Amino acid sequence: MNCFFHPAVPAVSQCVECGKGLCVSCATQYSISICRNCNHARAGNELKAIRKELGMSIGAGLVFALGAMSGGLMAAVVTFYCVASLVVGWFSVGAYMPRLSSLYTIFFFRSTVIYWLIKVVAAFFIGLLLLPFRTVKNFKRLKELNKL
Ligand SMILES: [Zn+2]
Ligand SMILES: [Zn+2]
Repeated sequence: MNCFFHPAVPAVSQCVECGKGLCVSCATQYSISICRNCNHARAGNELKAIRKELGMSIGAGLVFALGAMSGGLMAAVVTFYCVASLVVGWFSVGAYMPRLSSLYTIFFFRSTVIYWLIKVVAAFFIGLLLLPFRTVKNFKRLKELNKL
């Protein structure tokens, strides 16, 4: 098999997404063996996911903060942080929870209510810790992806 982009050059590996043959220079273009089309598609999906997370956490935070304004600025700031944490935490635990869920079902819990309760509590506390770092990281990544 030859490289999809350079038909005269033999392929040394394949795109992990679509299986197209890639030559040395194509295969080493990114951190994983992926063709430029698939990398572009991945970047697009990541961009969408990051925009969604930032939009939802900041948006929901602002809505609730406005509601808490009657309690003073401090209450609004704390509310914003808590709500944004919950959303950001929810996005970050989402990736791990399906696996946990099957473990829980096998060993302890059969109730999905308990599962959701655990997820909300976990999301909240993880979010409290992660919010500043993850938001900064997301904004940085957003800038990088926009350049692609
Ligand atoms: Zn590909
Ligand atoms: Zn090539």
